[in-house]
Amino acid sequence: MSDYRGRFAPSPSGRLHLGSALIAYGSYLKAKASGGTFLLRIEDLDRPRCPQANTPIMLEEIKRLGLSSDEPVLIQSEHEQDYLNTIAALPQAYRCNCTRALLKERPCPCQKLHLAPAEHQSIRVDLTSALAAHPYFNDGNFGLIKQADYSHELNPNLVLKRSDDIIAYNLAVVVDDHRQGITEVVRGADMLSATFLQLALYDLLGYQAPTFCHLPLVLEESTGHKFSKQNHAPALLDLLTPYEALKLCLHLLQVQTDPSMVTLVHERLSAYRTKPHCVAPQPSTQEAELLTALLHQAVTRFDPQTMPRQALML
Ligand code: GLU
Repeated sequence: MSDYRGRFAPSPSGRLHLGSALIAYGSYLKAKASGGTFLLRIEDLDRPRCPQANTPIMLEEIKRLGLSSDEPVLIQSEHEQDYLNTIAALPQAYRCNCTRALLKERPCPCQKLHLAPAEHQSIRVDLTSALAAHPYFNDGNFGLIKQADYSHELNPNLVLKRSDDIIAYNLAVVVDDHRQGITEVVRGADMLSATFLQLALYDLLGYQAPTFCHLPLVLEESTGHKFSKQNHAPALLDLLTPYEALKLCLHLLQVQTDPSMVTLVHERLSAYRTKPHCVAPQPSTQEAELLTALLHQAVTRFDPQTMPRQALML
């Protein structure tokens, strides 16, 4: 086994969508084609978005797609104290009483105020100088990514713990990618800008950063929207059987071309729109075996050089 350690780290805000499944397969194939280890992590710290009941459903759907973790699944909500300890040990962290509306009007003065702990207070860190050390990073799929192209999306006063006491994604993801020894992060292109914040946090925490490899988003051609819960996309396994879902993802990842899967997903989408319910047929008895065999074959065929770079239109 090689030293490569990859992961798929979904937030269980609902059922699995096509965009997430593509990342699940992309991260799995990259890890396995490198002879490495593949891990699953459930990023469920944002309880209002990710109710506990969603986790077993998400894990079951990932299993139906033929994917499993080589080590025990890490569930972030079971490790809250670790994130709090990391924040407490970070000398640059400061308490902040500003609301989002106030921050729009003026810069945050709290860093200099050394505020006493209070309710509804966030904890932030100023990443200005750490960000300056990362004017760009080399993405494993998209190549050189420049911070200047994303500066409008980057708030250097990064929230580590929100005013509702929820640990922020950027802190938790860095702590966990480090503790799980992840060598490469494969994830969706919507995380490109956050990568700069995370690289800055790695420096501040004294951790070695992994490499990053982003996959393009899957968009619905007619609307330009992502296939995600926010856009009311149907759950993937309500549209396709797991074997069909794998074939579609392999087509989108350019591992094994099969344009008939695109036609099939369009047909199922219009059936779903006419009457929203599960339009995927019951998987046949051989399907689980076919899926396992195809996934094995895909590992041998996968070529990271041919991963898609443009948004994927369906
Ligand atoms: N949990 C994040 C999501 O589902 C992904 C984070 C990551 O891969 O770094 O959107």
